[in-house]
Amino acid sequence: GTDHRGDVARDPRKWIVIDGAREHNLRSVSVAIPKDAITVFTGVSGSGKSSLVFSTVAVESQRQLNETFPTFVRNRLPRYEKPEVDRIEGVSTAVVVDQKPIGGSARSTVGTATDIYSIIRVLFSRAGEPSAGMATAYSFNTPEGACPRCDGLGRTTTVDLDAMIDKTKSLNEGALRFPLFAPGMVQWQMFAASGLFDLDKPVGRYSETEWRNLVYGPDDGVQLERSGPWTSYEGLLDKFQRLYLNRDLSSLSARTRKAVQQFTTQGVCPLCHGARLNQAALATKLDGYTIDDYANMEVVELVEVLGKIDHPLGVQLAAQAIAGLRRLDEIGLGYLHLGRETTTLSGGEAQRLKMVRFLGSSLTGMTYIFDEPSVGLHPRDVGRMNRLLTQLRDKGNTVLVVEHDRDVITVADHVVDMGPAAGVHGGEVVFEGTVADLRAADTATGRALRRRSAIKSGIRTPTGYLKVTGASLHNLCDVSVDIPTGVLTVFTGVAGSGKSTLVSEVFAAEHPEAIIVDQAGLGTSTRSTPVSHLGVMDAIRKAFAAANSVDAGLFSFNSKGACRACGGRGEVTADMAFMDPVTTVCERCHGDRYDPDVLGYTLGGKSIVEVLALTAEEAVDFFTDRAVRRKIGSLVEVGLGYLTLGQPLSSLSGGERQRLKLAGELGKSGGLYILDEPTTGLHMSDIDTLLRLLDRLVDAGNTVLVIEHDLDVIEHADHIIDLGPDGGRHGGQVVFEGTPAQLLDARNSYTAQYVRRDLG
Ligand code: ADP
Ligand code: ADP
Ligand code: ZN
Ligand code: ZN
Repeated sequence: GTDHRGDVARDPRKWIVIDGAREHNLRSVSVAIPKDAITVFTGVSGSGKSSLVFSTVAVESQRQLNETFPTFVRNRLPRYEKPEVDRIEGVSTAVVVDQKPIGGSARSTVGTATDIYSIIRVLFSRAGEPSAGMATAYSFNTPEGACPRCDGLGRTTTVDLDAMIDKTKSLNEGALRFPLFAPGMVQWQMFAASGLFDLDKPVGRYSETEWRNLVYGPDDGVQLERSGPWTSYEGLLDKFQRLYLNRDLSSLSARTRKAVQQFTTQGVCPLCHGARLNQAALATKLDGYTIDDYANMEVVELVEVLGKIDHPLGVQLAAQAIAGLRRLDEIGLGYLHLGRETTTLSGGEAQRLKMVRFLGSSLTGMTYIFDEPSVGLHPRDVGRMNRLLTQLRDKGNTVLVVEHDRDVITVADHVVDMGPAAGVHGGEVVFEGTVADLRAADTATGRALRRRSAIKSGIRTPTGYLKVTGASLHNLCDVSVDIPTGVLTVFTGVAGSGKSTLVSEVFAAEHPEAIIVDQAGLGTSTRSTPVSHLGVMDAIRKAFAAANSVDAGLFSFNSKGACRACGGRGEVTADMAFMDPVTTVCERCHGDRYDPDVLGYTLGGKSIVEVLALTAEEAVDFFTDRAVRRKIGSLVEVGLGYLTLGQPLSSLSGGERQRLKLAGELGKSGGLYILDEPTTGLHMSDIDTLLRLLDRLVDAGNTVLVIEHDLDVIEHADHIIDLGPDGGRHGGQVVFEGTPAQLLDARNSYTAQYVRRDLG
């Protein structure tokens, strides 16, 4: 690799200086990142960008910040281990602006998350007629403003008693179908201990009083003698309401939440009709609009309405709200409305919303770290986002961006290119310098930037069509479209035009046979590995068993082969009084998970631990079983040859997970696949690999639908469906259908404009 040690003598007031970084695959990386500048980190997927930027710089910043707190505060904060690095200096407070969803609660909206709604509340309380009081009277998150019926949620939940109670059964037989009320469970014991019921009588044969007691509870209450977490009896509805409905659903486990949904129906609140506020707040008008009208207007529309306000007490507040709304529009979110729940935003939308919050702040001297901010953005909107990155820098901040998009790379003052390839073949800085020099560099990124685009020749002929008729969910305007089978179709259009609504919601709901290939976790258990995912672990265990004439269970760390000290976890956690538990590598197995006794059995001269440490590339030739070779070979084919057979799936990046899923699909035919922005996290040269894989799927007789903005993918389609013309209310129509060549002549399409520019 290149020796960057010359750089490290730099002044930590002007540079973030890193020496000897070794997280994950990093090969003792030494690098200096200029402060008060935009640095873009590029490199193929798996080359080590996140390991350097997130696991090293961001973690160290957080750790240093925590060190500044007194011990009693520090003990309550998450613990950050010092990253594997010899020296790191000059990091300022880092803010990571990622794509994780914002807040978990139904009470968080675009308006509350950006604080624009709080300005509007003050506006209504001062300038609206009649005023309902001060500003909290317009907050649906306070008792003063919330609708009394739905408590400010805009929705009411009703328990579906028919689903909840199986009348053919008795309480002892499990008449209560909600899993947490099953016989023997704590809550069930309250019903049993009440003495109100014959536990063996089917509920359908209850007297009217017994039924009322079960569902609503007796009018005069019942004191319970048996000890338990309950002191008095409550009916099924009250209990369910209190335990599962009158609380933030996000505080429940995913499993419980799902069960709750199964036994309840949600409807718009009959009192406020979804407006969340009480009648006094909703009665206030400003220039003829209620605050709920405001919450339902798209950002761009609301800017117009606010611009017309001339009430002396309102002008300044309106101007303040307009400034925030303009930032939302500039970042490509002009199609959202303030009342939109943040839990329904996509990852890219959530990230851009967070960005708006920081742009509004006057902090300087911070380090902002972005994880692929171009996600979800059409090329038309990338330019606007670049301006925001520039503004952050110009305010005196350091901006670090992990990104692959050509247009984002061009905004960099400095580029750090990682490589040369992925995993063990990566982990080095292969180029540092300006974008102009990168274009001439002999690295995967340099080569990709020099390449000229072309549209595909040899368009495939569809084998048939799948129809969508009259779709009108969200912003879709009665969309009817024919989706060809047996070819690669790309759905495109600016952010908010309706692509996900059409494909992932409307179409996917009508075609449950569709296989969604996303980047989400594959069984998040740390015990899953590439070979267990591909279903060859069994064959590997049997090969070991046969070679040694012993039981195959010995070669599983989930079974008889588990290390006797740690039970196959590879680590041990010690509970320390008054302190965070401490996790250390298991001393018996050194993290291998297998008991050392098992390692005496070998196959081809290697123990099970040694075999699982082989990379897929190495392992293909190691096995003799044809099926095993083929499946492990599929890992190499999808470009994951560098993964070891036993690497926990929880450590895989989104792009790596997606390819692993595709590896499992190779060789199948007649399937219908949907991929939503599969280029996320992928370098330009990884996109070639992805396109080859999609071609293979199609050529094997499958239908592939892709939602994308990436021009290389659009130019490679057999068929393009372009939605627009713009986002939100101004979108929701099909503006173009046809081949890439035909798209070049389309007039009413932003996508066409950018494809023409790309082909230059
Ligand atoms: P990039 O951000 O460039 O896509 P990453 O830094 O995420 O790359 O990953 C670099 C390499 O380190 C990959 O091979 C990845 O599988 C590996 N890796 C990432 N996280 C972990 C982890 N927690 N444990 C082990 N290996 C990891
Ligand atoms: P795209 O995938 O093209 O970016 P979407 O299908 O996500 O567009 O969004 C299309 C429109 O539907 C936008 O106006 C968006 O705000 C709206 N929308 C999407 N999801 C929801 C939802 N869960 N609730 C309300 N509106 C939604
Ligand atoms: Zn209500
Ligand atoms: Zn162990």
